[in-house]
Amino acid sequence: MSHYVKFTYQRARADIVPFDALAELNASRRKLLELGLMGVDSTGIGFGNLSVRDGVSRNFYITGSATGGLPELTPTDCVRVVAYDFARNWLRFEGAAVPSSESLTHAAIYESDPATSAVIHCHDSGLWATLLDRAPTTSKPVAYGTPEMAYEIMRLFKISDVRSRKIFAMTGHEAGIVAFGRNLEDAFDVMMRERRESSPCI
Ligand SMILES: [Zn+2]
Repeated sequence: MSHYVKFTYQRARADIVPFDALAELNASRRKLLELGLMGVDSTGIGFGNLSVRDGVSRNFYITGSATGGLPELTPTDCVRVVAYDFARNWLRFEGAAVPSSESLTHAAIYESDPATSAVIHCHDSGLWATLLDRAPTTSKPVAYGTPEMAYEIMRLFKISDVRSRKIFAMTGHEAGIVAFGRNLEDAFDVMMRERRESSPCI
């Protein structure tokens, strides 16, 4: 077993300037909320997070911690990640919100694939169960929001077809799905396509 490295972060500034992708981000969130792929679980904890790359940089905007159930986000609900270190499970950010502890999972995808500019993490137990056998998956002992998850994702990009498939399941994170693409609409479409293909014919 690997030892647990606590997620830590440092706020570089207390606000972010309104960013262009916010409207697109809210549009994708509305669809995900309607489908129940993100929201608030039975224990009152928000789930699901989205991010968008900031131009062609390694920086990205990501929804803040505990925003899963909010119907509409404003810039104060998002942060801009401007530096990170996988080994230390650490990042630096701008914004009023607390960055999602899963931010480095998103960072690992941006780092592995320059063509990716948007990432969606949501929960779908049906699709998750299907993908476990058929699609790239992170190995079981690896928990979400750990350095090991970031390394595991980078490994998937080397050993699997995740770059072209644009979706993977997290074995150790029940119902956990990650889809990505050139933009949020693209990532959302990947998820919908896989859902259609995984649902049994009636
Ligand atoms: Zn999750």
